[in-house]
Amino acid sequence: MSKNQNKTGSYSFFNCIEKNFDKAARFISIEKGLLEQIKACNSVYRMHFPVKIGKEVKVIEAYRVQHSHHKLPCKGGIRYSMKVNQDEIMTLAALMTYKCAIVDVPFGGAKGGIKIDPQTISSENIEKITRRYTSELIKKNFIGPGIDVPAPDYGTGEKEMSWIFDTFLSLRSGDVDALACVTGKPISQGGVRGRKEATGLGVFYGIRELCHVKEEMYSVGLDVGLVGKKIIIQGLGNVGYHAASFFHESGAIIIALAEREGAIYNKKGLNVSKVFLHLKNNGSILNFPEAKNIENTEKALELECDILIPAALENVIHKNNANRIKAKIIGEAANGPITPEADEILDKKGVIIVPDIYLNAGGVTVSYFEWLKNLSHVRYGRMEKKFRENVNAEFLKVIETVCKKKISIEEKKMILRGPREIDLVRSGLEDTMINGFHKIRDIKKSLKIENMRTAAFVLSINKIIDSYEKLGIFP
Ligand code: NAD
Repeated sequence: MSKNQNKTGSYSFFNCIEKNFDKAARFISIEKGLLEQIKACNSVYRMHFPVKIGKEVKVIEAYRVQHSHHKLPCKGGIRYSMKVNQDEIMTLAALMTYKCAIVDVPFGGAKGGIKIDPQTISSENIEKITRRYTSELIKKNFIGPGIDVPAPDYGTGEKEMSWIFDTFLSLRSGDVDALACVTGKPISQGGVRGRKEATGLGVFYGIRELCHVKEEMYSVGLDVGLVGKKIIIQGLGNVGYHAASFFHESGAIIIALAEREGAIYNKKGLNVSKVFLHLKNNGSILNFPEAKNIENTEKALELECDILIPAALENVIHKNNANRIKAKIIGEAANGPITPEADEILDKKGVIIVPDIYLNAGGVTVSYFEWLKNLSHVRYGRMEKKFRENVNAEFLKVIETVCKKKISIEEKKMILRGPREIDLVRSGLEDTMINGFHKIRDIKKSLKIENMRTAAFVLSINKIIDSYEKLGIFP
């Protein structure tokens, strides 16, 4: 048993990331101490604060971890869950550092967490807790547009981000850049169009790119393209729901969806928006018409399929179920869904694993766009939309004159259209995910690395080393 394993022979979540980092470090020739600096968490803030809930005073445990300051501000989501602990938040902060480097987002990694179960607490009390947490962060200078910028994660969304912004503004009134203290806000509060679905859409773009590479598809016995691929998704929250919708729209077949209470299965495919409506109306995905219930939700991961997308929590694929996984491709939409032991088993089976530090980076990419929007105080497309439409109209006139042919009104509408915010955000995200995929693949091929995860870590660590060197910290 290694010194990093606990009594049951499992690794702590942070050790899992360290293990992945060490595998990549074998391909990098730089002094060991410098690699240790990149691996270490720079600042860990663990707090306890009282909040009055009903007639009782409850002591709330919470964290904010800044993993790396090689670029500022730090950036990372905030999760609300009873499973929140220091090890988990440190790990997720580290993942953010590596993720940002891969997709060229100029931030250091961070993460926050509050140990509460949002499903059992009223919205009013969640607001109280969120506001108190924010003021604790402000007191210790752990939040700010140039310091540390939170975002949504497991158990949080636009509402919580709005409360964070409002609390920050009330304590820092007059800060003209206050909107940029948090991302994932509603549009009316300075959010950017396309942020809500960004992580799921990024997952879709990443997997679609993989499915277009003949060499990769033939290596696992699949045809090129996404159409007709059988997909299973675990978690129908922000990431899972949007990923499922984009896969469904593109012609892939969602054969199973798994939630906490159980899973549903239909080999001919599930209509994602209908399942979501059913979930909203009934509080459960179970008993969806035309689908079979699977009581033990974990069993859904083991069904025959082409692509498995864990989009709920960490460590769901482990040494005890890895051998039973039949998917040929696993896309890590959640953070850390595969333990290192399971990773080795799946690698030996030849499964293609698209790693979290690349695949779920769509959220932070669009958060970066939101942050830029907030600092520039202008909506994307506002300055150029009409100008582009005018130029396109002139261009079209010339074409019609030269060709002596009139273009139909429908075609005209399409050609004349200037870019809206959502168009710019989505094209920026698509470009980022496509580029990231090919950079990882190029490194994998040129260094003859066995899997995408190690190649992604090599790409990321090299970029961090480069920015430390440019800062003059490394000799
Ligand atoms: P969410 O809270 O919106 O959704 C999580 C979903 O998983 C919920 O519907 C929940 O009921 C379900 N779930 C919980 N336990 C489950 C279980 N045992 N089996 C099946 N389903 C279960 O959270 P999210 O924002 O979608 O985040 C999901 C994952 O993606 C997390 O690992 C998070 O760190 C990661 N992630 C999120 C973002 C983002 O932008 N929200 C960005 C990057 C990574």
